[in-house]
Amino acid sequence: MNFAALQDAVVGESVATRWADAVMEWEVVGVEYDHAQGGVCVCGKTGLVDLFTIVNQRNGALLFPIGSVCVNKFGRSDLDQEVDVLKRFLHLREAITAREWIELTSEYFSRALIRDLYDQGAFPPNAWNGGDGWGDCDFLLKMFNKHDKEAITAAQNRKIRALLGTIKTFVLADERLM
Ligand SMILES: [Zn+2]
Repeated sequence: MNFAALQDAVVGESVATRWADAVMEWEVVGVEYDHAQGGVCVCGKTGLVDLFTIVNQRNGALLFPIGSVCVNKFGRSDLDQEVDVLKRFLHLREAITAREWIELTSEYFSRALIRDLYDQGAFPPNAWNGGDGWGDCDFLLKMFNKHDKEAITAAQNRKIRALLGTIKTFVLADERLM
């Protein structure tokens, strides 16, 4: 990646005129998977696979595509986490569309991803979670953290399968994944 070109592209679309201030204006809003690896980053790097879109919160400017390596250069841990979670979501969506058997393991999930699902409203309140989606999220986090998967009961497994079904529907409709 070409850091000077990245700085030019970002500062050029920002309200602030200094890099250190300009990076504070941006949010990650979406990602697209390019099978053909034909993406060219705003810094000029070719062969991008994960094409992120970032939007300036102060003037509405949009930069696309930008690679995760360049977003990481912003030096903002919140953006780094968002990029990681969206990459995992892309992987999960690919697996769903490929009709893979999805399990609640680190191959498909992370704690951050499960929490993000809750933040995005993937667990609507209903009769099974007592009207509070946090219960579903908390349950999945506990099951995900269990080292001894054999200790998961049949009833818990049924609940996991049901929630994974809800998550699949949500991920396929997630507008952040383009
Ligand atoms: Zn780049």
